[in-house]
Amino acid sequence: MDAVRLKSSCICGNTRPYLECCGRYAQAPIPSEVTGEVERKWADFRHVLHELYMYLFPLRNLYQAYWEKLSEEEYPHHLLMADAEYGRAVVANFFWDYSVQFSDARPILRAARDIEGKDIRMANDFRQWSLAPMWLVYVVEADERHAHLRPLGSEKVHRVLHGGELPEPGAYVAARLLIYRGEEYVLPAVLRFSEAFSQTRAEEALRQVRNALGLKSGAGGLRPDVQCDEWRRHGSLFLNLWREHVYDAVVGIPGRTVHMAPGFNLPVADTAEASRQLATGGAIALGRHKYEVRYRTLPVARLEIREDMIHGTLMDDAFRPYALHWIADHLRAIHAVDGGAVEDSTGVTFDSDPESWLNTPQAQLNGETPVQASRHDFGRRRLLNLLNEESGQGRDVTGLREKLGL
Ligand SMILES: [Zn+2]
Repeated sequence: MDAVRLKSSCICGNTRPYLECCGRYAQAPIPSEVTGEVERKWADFRHVLHELYMYLFPLRNLYQAYWEKLSEEEYPHHLLMADAEYGRAVVANFFWDYSVQFSDARPILRAARDIEGKDIRMANDFRQWSLAPMWLVYVVEADERHAHLRPLGSEKVHRVLHGGELPEPGAYVAARLLIYRGEEYVLPAVLRFSEAFSQTRAEEALRQVRNALGLKSGAGGLRPDVQCDEWRRHGSLFLNLWREHVYDAVVGIPGRTVHMAPGFNLPVADTAEASRQLATGGAIALGRHKYEVRYRTLPVARLEIREDMIHGTLMDDAFRPYALHWIADHLRAIHAVDGGAVEDSTGVTFDSDPESWLNTPQAQLNGETPVQASRHDFGRRRLLNLLNEESGQGRDVTGLREKLGL
């Protein structure tokens, strides 16, 4: 793991500094300083959780080994280490993995009890903790500190305390529920799914995870003593599911090997206005006229405004559609190319005079002529749409495609 980043992160995997995250719970709470019973319970829970993390944190060589194993996977995981949700889930997965290896399978007892519905006595736990498995959970209700959660595949609704990481009721999360002093708490390493993650999708995802783990629903069951190895992978299965939903489905899957992706150039009429729009749209300023477009914390493209052009560099070719759509959504200045001539009322149509049409500004090309549009990546996309439409209406566009180099 990147040593520089570790300094600005927390023992729990959060990307906020330790002092702003778990460090606030380093000391046992002083009762007179905590208002209310519920807040006292939460502060107490966070303090002992801090102690658990501190106990495990020095196991750096094991963490290193875990990380190396992760980096052998197809997905370039290091790209997501700046995402706090991801970072915390990775550390929680590591702890689970570690405890499965070295603590006599105790976490598995918890898994068996909660997920298989078995009445298995909890053994002595791990530093007074029974580490819980990560599972897909439906948020039935949630306010600032309490929530009702229903693990998928179970009818039982759990009343829990949480640290504010849960989304609105009706959404799904992948979470670990920890028992502490007779109450259940949500480990702050919560992976949130968006509203687009439907019940059907969740059930299908769970079925796949179960299959991958070799778990049968209902009878069939777990042998906690022998099935540790199956469970070792479960955290990463949920993490992958979340990543597919939150990242891959939106920005695409980056390649494992670094390669130069072809860049793109977009003409802009007003560079000052373009800069302003990039900044207000959420692009990160990297220097004078230089910006980075990110999705969550993932750098997607670098943009530099020079003369009347935006020069774009993609961090991975897979991000191209996302980056271009982002620019289209946030950069209205791009629409005003050639003095904003967005009218195509010269009477020249595709049918009447295809040759002149090539040099006539088109509304669908945001005021550019087909020839102008063909000179940059973004215009070519619009142009292809336009030609596809024409061809859909039975017109022959083969000759024009060739002329435009499409
Ligand atoms: Zn923390």
